[in-house]
Amino acid sequence: MKEKLSALKDEANLNIQKAATLQEIDEIRVKYLGKKGEFTEISKSMRNLSPEERPLFGQLVNETKTFITNLIDEKNLVLKNEAKKEQLMSEVLDISLPGRDVSTGGLHPITETMNFLKGIFTDMGFDIAEGPEVEFTSYNFDALNIPETHPSRDLQDTFYMSENVVLRTHTSPVQARYMEKNQPPFRMVCPGKVYRNDYDISHTPMFHQMEGLMVGPDVSFANLKAMLEQFVTKVFGETKVRFRPHFFPFTEPSAEMDVQCVICKGEGCRLCKHSGWLEIMGCGMVDPAVLEAGGLNSDEVSGFAFGMGIERITMLRYGIDDLRAFFENDVRFLKQFK
Ligand SMILES: [Zn+2]
Repeated sequence: MKEKLSALKDEANLNIQKAATLQEIDEIRVKYLGKKGEFTEISKSMRNLSPEERPLFGQLVNETKTFITNLIDEKNLVLKNEAKKEQLMSEVLDISLPGRDVSTGGLHPITETMNFLKGIFTDMGFDIAEGPEVEFTSYNFDALNIPETHPSRDLQDTFYMSENVVLRTHTSPVQARYMEKNQPPFRMVCPGKVYRNDYDISHTPMFHQMEGLMVGPDVSFANLKAMLEQFVTKVFGETKVRFRPHFFPFTEPSAEMDVQCVICKGEGCRLCKHSGWLEIMGCGMVDPAVLEAGGLNSDEVSGFAFGMGIERITMLRYGIDDLRAFFENDVRFLKQFK
């Protein structure tokens, strides 16, 4: 009996060592320790022993069962841990994989330049004003000293909505409207879209302008020059400027301002047509007739005005040579300004 028990113990031990899965260890538990298990059977056979031998053998059986139970529990724990580890390994996340980019848009270069220029003028104390894009001829032409016979009123240049309503051909009518509502001294700029009936490599039917106006008791051409020189430095860095006499109906005297070519620094290149200079904007002292039309007394106040094309400034800032690129909405072009 003792030998049989000892053999059973060795056999169980060996099986437990070999068990590789939780299911196998469960089967071993049933096989040896279950209701009909091997050890239960051997306990039953104790009745064949003499009463003196029984307690001793019973104790031996119990010790062996405890030993085997402990072995099974240990093995069970080891296998459970392994299973857990395996599960963790199989569910592991690869955090080294690159993430997906969220693609964001950017500002259109015209909008970006417009915001940039607005910032420069508000820093210098200018107000930002806006006005309607569909405008009365009285504001678009009459208030700005542009007579009926002026060529810019021609149907070929202007989009007429009706006899006295047009798509504004410049942002100047905003200045006329501003003068009606505000008392000098004041300084303002009006950025926005304007429309002309024109389309080629350097003209589009819609483009952007920014005009400015400063009116006060002693506003002089020297003030205009100083302000514009400061403005140009902020846009293009340290550079030379020059003023050329010009004619505009709404200013007197009038000038065009050039900056030294940003590409060749005055040496002469294709962009500046080998002159070394780039035309940037028109400017001048506000014609007294325009001040009077705005309800101001030209004996008491004077003012200067200036105007520039936003597309032109943007092209010079970024070195873009075709105006149409701004309006073709080619994503490859626009992406460069993000
Ligand atoms: Zn040049």
